[in-house]
Amino acid sequence: MDSASTAYDVLVVGAGPAGLAAAWRAANAGLRVAVVDDNPSSGGQIWRGEENKPTSREAQTWLERIRSVNIRFIRGARIFQQTQPGTVLAETARDVVELNYTNLILATGARERFLPFPGWTLPNVMGAGGLQALVKTGLPIEGKKVVIAGTGPLLLAVAAYLLAQGANVLLMAEQASSLKLAKFGLALIGAGKSAQAFEMKQRLKTVRYLNGCWPVAAHGNEKLESLTLYRAGKRWQVACDYLACGFHLVPNLELAELLGCKVQNGAVSVGQFQQTTVPHVYAAGEATGIGGLELSLVEGEIAGLAAAGKRNAAQTLFAAREKQQRFSRILNETFALRPELRGLAKDETIVCRCEDVTFAQLRTHDSWRAAKLQTRCGMGPCQGRVCGAAVEFLFGWRAESVRPPIFPVKVESLLCK
Ligand SMILES: Cc1cc2nc3c(=O)[nH]c(=O)nc-3n(C[C@H](O)[C@H](O)[C@H](O)COP(=O)(O)OP(=O)(O)OC[C@H]3O[C@@H](n4cnc5c(N)ncnc54)[C@H](O)[C@@H]3O)c2cc1C
Repeated sequence: MDSASTAYDVLVVGAGPAGLAAAWRAANAGLRVAVVDDNPSSGGQIWRGEENKPTSREAQTWLERIRSVNIRFIRGARIFQQTQPGTVLAETARDVVELNYTNLILATGARERFLPFPGWTLPNVMGAGGLQALVKTGLPIEGKKVVIAGTGPLLLAVAAYLLAQGANVLLMAEQASSLKLAKFGLALIGAGKSAQAFEMKQRLKTVRYLNGCWPVAAHGNEKLESLTLYRAGKRWQVACDYLACGFHLVPNLELAELLGCKVQNGAVSVGQFQQTTVPHVYAAGEATGIGGLELSLVEGEIAGLAAAGKRNAAQTLFAAREKQQRFSRILNETFALRPELRGLAKDETIVCRCEDVTFAQLRTHDSWRAAKLQTRCGMGPCQGRVCGAAVEFLFGWRAESVRPPIFPVKVESLLCK
């Protein structure tokens, strides 16, 4: 254990937009603030790697703001356990750090949801955000034939990014219906995002966009070679090098659940000051529900101010949050999964890829617990982070408990209690 265990007025978990906004507000109020993130750089899913070269005005503003105050960044450190209220342990590549806090802000973000279908475990079938991250770290994509499929606005961001990197984006298959997408278009205007939407449309004007369309099978011997798509009763095959596929996002809840925070409708339950049901623990950003960048930022600001005791200042941001929350409700209605997608997995389709558990092995059980005990579904290295959201959609099961460590850690890290 790092002998220099330290105490902070505010400890923020997650250096994405919500965590940075919370940390900036709390540090600005003169508090001792630390931000822990399991990645080597700050910025979360959207701004990671942009610390020295922000790609948007918003990123630049926020990255400058956090540089203007005194915040300790603990990078490459993953919180995996609470030893007692007010103390958590984080594992780094070298050792374990004990972190003590008066107030904790959970800004743990979200991850992609994957749905199993025949061939989804073939090499080069990837999460949409996953493929984007690989390309950002050097995977050559120029000239490669890419299909982007699933649901949610992340698909658009990924398509625009891959296109800009020279990928041959063949088409985008979005499962949402045209009616839902039209309503979403109106909501974008209401939320003040019409300029953003127009810019995205311009960037993607050469890409074929099919609504009410989804992948039903990926084919290939050693890696992906082609894909069968379905739309309005028709199936057809497309030859491609990569499939970037994700079905919207799901909040990262494990740490909140470990601390005993109430979770409702798949998100951390918070009050008007972003306080959770556990005293001195706040939550902000996509851990509290999927709502996009602006909602994450404003929730982070409110949590940071509230943790610093600045409730009046926090209240001045409630109207801005409400506007983004309205947008978030429409976002989640638009990209809700259609029931037909439950039919994608066939008996032999692997659902838990860590433990090679098939759909047929799972469907004879009546709960997540029973399936886990009999098949080891969700007990591999990802601890249900991939298959958990899929089995929830397929069977309606949710994990009943979270136990430490919430991430796989070294045995010696477990001994540091
Ligand atoms: C894979 C992916 C890619 C995305 N790409 C885009 C994009 O290109 N454009 C776009 O507009 N939106 C994108 N989004 C959506 C975007 O992330 C959200 O709209 C919003 O920015 C979320 O901010 P956040 O601060 O809540 O979370 P995040 O940005 O997700 O930040 C949370 C951070 O907390 C860290 N963390 C979680 N648990 C722990 C722990 N126990 N210990 C230490 N660290 C921890 C995570 O590693 C992460 O860095 C993406 C989302 C995902 C899941």
